[in-house]
Parts: sequence; structure tokens; C-alpha cells
Amino acid sequence: MNTPVTAAKILAIAQRGELILSQRAQAVSNPLDPEIQTLIHDMQATMLAANGVGIAAPQVFQSLRIIIVASRPNPRYPEAPLMEPIAMINPEIIWQSTETCLGEEGCLSVQEMRAQVARAERLTVRYLNEKAESIEAEFSGFVARIIQHEVDHLEGILFVERAEAAES
Ligand code: ZN
Repeated sequence: MNTPVTAAKILAIAQRGELILSQRAQAVSNPLDPEIQTLIHDMQATMLAANGVGIAAPQVFQSLRIIIVASRPNPRYPEAPLMEPIAMINPEIIWQSTETCLGEEGCLSVQEMRAQVARAERLTVRYLNEKAESIEAEFSGFVARIIQHEVDHLEGILFVERAEAAES
């Protein structure tokens, strides 16, 4: 991702129960709009400050189809790949495997709760990057899980609605 000229802001994170988290987010018409570019940088800073591996714009009170995916190894997923954060604008999962896997998820918008969620093992996602270039890429495992979790946010769905066995 680009290095911002101005310092990024840490944004407030919407918590479960806020209306924006259950709404379908709007497509971004111009990714190059400076307000969108600023939002992406602020989302990334907010995600890192909260120690997250992904974030979606509705979580920072913007009903827009933008997600950031930023896997890194962590205590629950020591095998998770370390990656440069990827901003995905208007992401669409255009293919996913019928093969699923169960894994534990949490969410910056759902405090103190983690749960097992079944997700497709592999998928292909099409999105615009922050330069407005159309990208199609395949992901698997933990990164594919993050993408599905974040795209769900754009549809107003929280992981707890897909949970198999909730634990506090
Ligand atoms: Zn989430």
C-alpha cells in the first residue's frame, strides 16, 4: 500500500448492535477519490492499532465496500502467512471451493468472543486495488478465511451468525 503523506488517524470501531454493522455497504465509485485514499490509510492504522488481521469499512462507520486483509502469524494461527496488507475495493468472491475448513474467529467489532466458523478453504476474489486496477487473485487457508469474514461485513453479516460453537 502507498505511504500516506499525512499521518493516519485511528478511527472508532463500531461494536455489535450498531446498525451500520448489519447494513449492506455501498460500492465505491472512485477509488482514487482522496477521501477514499485517506479512509484506506486510516482503516489500516486502526486495524494495526487494534492488533487485527483484517478490517472492513462498516467497522469504522463508513458504509462502503472496502476491506483490508493483513494476515500475520499469531498465537491462534502460528502458521498464518505474513503478508503486506492488501486493500480490496468492491471485492467480489467469484469462486470458492466446496471444501470447507473449521477455524476460530474473532472480530474487532465483537469484543471478548471467539467461535469456530466453517469457511471455504480456497477462493478467487476480484477487486480494485487502491490504484483502481482490477485484480483477480486466489487465496487459501487463513487468508481466504479473513477475506470471507471481511466480505461478510460488507453484507451486514457478523461471524457470530455463522458460528458453529460459540465460546466466550
Ligand atoms: Zn470482523
